[in-house]
Amino acid sequence: MKTYPMFIGGRAVDAGATFAVVNPALGEPFARVQDAQVQHVDAAVAAARAAFPAWSATPDAERQALLHALGAALEAHTPELMELVTRETGKPLAGLDNVGAGMELGGAIAWTHVTADLALAPEVLQDDATARVEVHRKPLGVVASITPWNWPLMIAIWHVIPALRTGNTVVLKPSEYTPVATSRFVELANAILPPGVLNLVTGAGAIGAALAGHADVDKIVFTGSTRTGKRIMEGAAATLKRLTLELGGNDAGIVLPGADVAALAPRLFGAAFHNNGQTCACLKRLYVHDSQYDAMCAALARLAIDVRVGDGMDPQTQLGPVQNRAQRDIVQALADDARACGGQVLAGGRARPGPGYFFEPTIVAGLSNGARLVDEEQFGPILPVIRYADVDDAVRLANDNPNGLGGSVWGDPALAVAVGRRLECGTVWINEHGAVQPDAPFGGIKQSGIGVEFGRHGLAEFTSIQTVKIMKA
Ligand code: NAD
Repeated sequence: MKTYPMFIGGRAVDAGATFAVVNPALGEPFARVQDAQVQHVDAAVAAARAAFPAWSATPDAERQALLHALGAALEAHTPELMELVTRETGKPLAGLDNVGAGMELGGAIAWTHVTADLALAPEVLQDDATARVEVHRKPLGVVASITPWNWPLMIAIWHVIPALRTGNTVVLKPSEYTPVATSRFVELANAILPPGVLNLVTGAGAIGAALAGHADVDKIVFTGSTRTGKRIMEGAAATLKRLTLELGGNDAGIVLPGADVAALAPRLFGAAFHNNGQTCACLKRLYVHDSQYDAMCAALARLAIDVRVGDGMDPQTQLGPVQNRAQRDIVQALADDARACGGQVLAGGRARPGPGYFFEPTIVAGLSNGARLVDEEQFGPILPVIRYADVDDAVRLANDNPNGLGGSVWGDPALAVAVGRRLECGTVWINEHGAVQPDAPFGGIKQSGIGVEFGRHGLAEFTSIQTVKIMKA
């Protein structure tokens, strides 16, 4: 079994202790990573701090070229990295609607190149006989990146590349459940980047907390649960660290009356079940008009029964296991609660016996807001389908939630846009759900987060503004 090192100051580092990473399709360890101590966090932050002056002063074009080289390294190692992603997350190589490890690598590569080409040119606000006023962007310093287990490599890229692009240095801590592909990426990156520009520490929540609370970290970019995000925000107060928090979602989709059920059902199913529902912006609550409710529930249940569930290394597999046992237990508890409060389980509803953390894709009818499965983020393969009587009611129910990441409306585009603009969420999709792109800002409102990622808006979050006023008279 291979053991992966950390990287601090450009060197591979062993912590003296390691922990196992489990393949959720088999329930067995397949790799080991370093079990960092707080002293490694201190060393990584010090290495990032030492590398900051030279990296932030590196000419823009040189930094861009190095980031494109990282994209090329990801491309060159795609088969190896895809396999590591599948083994650690359980997601299939291809997957339902081609949302699998291949997409994770493709996305990581695309985001790297697109972000490398972005720029934040100085703005001129005034230039007259009295004065010239310019707005410049400066890097913040040392960025701590803390990532979750659902899209580990792609989310690491989402954090690291814009941070480096704008001249910051980084200490990255991946999820303890899925640190392997990220460790390999950092190893590849350290053959390209100057020492200390990108550092890696591996460990569980205590190491994340030590990094997030470190006095010499200037910014934290965190993707994960709302609960952890709140803790990070508390810890950031002591030194007023800048924050980007991409937190939980409980995205609603509204199907407008008159929809073509047969045509929409597979697309709605894909939006809800790709990566086994373990995507922040999966469709997590589906509101369907009374007139089509029964037909839509039946179509979704048929798709859930027919979808191919198995080991993600099998190219035929569409859905893999839930990524870890604790998450599968959450999904089981939500299914049990749904039954107890009158929900009808139309497909699935049970963990699959045998090795691995499999759960049958599950469709639940007959619930509404107030049931746990509707109000809480399930983050797994179980979808509540909720009946509504009129569109105003659907909008009210969709907004009746503390989360505000994404939302979608399905139907005639003009009407759907008008309804979508009323949803309380950071992104609204019309006739799709959950698709993100590297040039469009993405982030949550309400308790789904603070700030955005991607595009120029996302890049700006890794900088501070310096206003320069030059008097002429
Ligand atoms: P999590 O909050 O349990 O863990 C995320 C990371 O935080 C891990 O690396 C973990 O070790 C670390 N951590 C744990 N406690 C910490 C602490 N006290 N201080 C600092 N770091 C700590 O989340 P998860 O279960 O890995 O991820 C699932 C969640 O992530 C879901 O809620 C999902 O919606 C959310 N998510 C959001 C987005 C988005 O863009 N909004 C994207 C992906 C996932």
